[in-house]
Amino acid sequence: MLPEFFKEKYFGVCQDYYEKLKKECTKCDHLGHIMKDEQTYVDCDCTKAFLKNKEYIKIGVPLVLFNGSNGKFVETFTKECQENVKLLIKMIRQLTEATNIFIHCKERKDYATSFIASLIAVNLIDSEHDAAMIKSHELIDTFFNFERDEKGWDSLVETKFLIVDGFGQENNKQLAEEESFVTTRFMNLLNLRSSMNCITIIVGDLILDDLKKKYCTSLIEYFVLDCLKFEVSIDKKKQSALERLNELNPEFVKLFSDKKVSSSEGESVRPVSKQRIPNRGRTL
Ligand SMILES: [Zn+2]
Repeated sequence: MLPEFFKEKYFGVCQDYYEKLKKECTKCDHLGHIMKDEQTYVDCDCTKAFLKNKEYIKIGVPLVLFNGSNGKFVETFTKECQENVKLLIKMIRQLTEATNIFIHCKERKDYATSFIASLIAVNLIDSEHDAAMIKSHELIDTFFNFERDEKGWDSLVETKFLIVDGFGQENNKQLAEEESFVTTRFMNLLNLRSSMNCITIIVGDLILDDLKKKYCTSLIEYFVLDCLKFEVSIDKKKQSALERLNELNPEFVKLFSDKKVSSSEGESVRPVSKQRIPNRGRTL
């Protein structure tokens, strides 16, 4: 149940996405369908992919989720975090009472939490829940656009599951002021949603300390007291060059040393300054 304002916007995104899929498709000559015989034609894979994802895009799930992000979930988050996200989605799908959830990061990492927000949205749609996803800065824009459009405002209040993604990137100075127009509208929306038994999920690559710098006391209190907080942890383990080679071309692995430099040894490895390199002259 998204306001018309967004329906139009996401309709445009859907059309662009379909055109892109058809353009890249090598099976149907960019038509979207394949002739089965002289009289009938069937949907091509590009059309099938579009139809599958259209419902998600229509509620605001970003396209990046469908564009080559296979494996991103496993690559980005720690094992424990992946399991917790699955449980979190299961819990969210069962919610009926007013609940506020704040999904944030242990460290600043661009757009990691956005992926989780999209997964939640997709799962809610799949289980036929009334859900919508909105970027934090877009939400703030609506405060100005909907001033005269109460219908738009009503749908933001009444959507059962509202996911506000990219929180912290809205860069709106008014949110640091207690009585400002934006803060008042925002708090008003959050309180109204709770009173309507709605579920609000706010997601951002923010560490809790960041809140103090950017937001006023009543907003901080909302996150600290009124929200269940879910902490996302990013997997920092980076595959070494040797591990990568072992996966791609194991027969050559023996050529290379597997000696690891421990972090304490690593500290003593310093670049040698230019002056100290003896002049060896040309050897080749
Ligand atoms: Zn095609």
